Amino acid sequence: MQYRITKQRQLILEEMRKLHFHPTAEEFYSLIKRKLPGMGLCTIYRNLEKFQELGLIEKIQGVPIRFEGNPQPHNHIKCVKCGKVEDLPARITLDEKAIKAMGYQLHAYTVEINGICLPCQKNDKTKEE
Ligand SMILES: [Zn+2]
Ligand SMILES: [Zn+2]
Repeated sequence: MQYRITKQRQLILEEMRKLHFHPTAEEFYSLIKRKLPGMGLCTIYRNLEKFQELGLIEKIQGVPIRFEGNPQPHNHIKCVKCGKVEDLPARITLDEKAIKAMGYQLHAYTVEINGICLPCQKNDKTKEE
């Protein structure tokens, strides 16, 4: 059976692409359920999986599985306290010349940036008081 992008599915995809963080299916569901009344978590999950198969969004493997809706190449920052992963506004670039100078042919690279997000910093402060 052919998968058709219905209006409802289009809306799910659009909502997903607007996000600059990476929700789990549950988080995404609670965000959009008011806009899509009558749609259950299972349907949302199935559609996200399908979008991922079609290459429209990406899945970030881990526990729990998160979804990436931002189609632009970008870097991530991860909160070491709550595990939240957000998009960085600027892309990190690598000094490729320096790598070439070492004689390497560059294939791929990943950058991991960790920090503590604002809500977690606030949480820490209230605990200290
Ligand atoms: Zn945090
Ligand atoms: Zn992202």
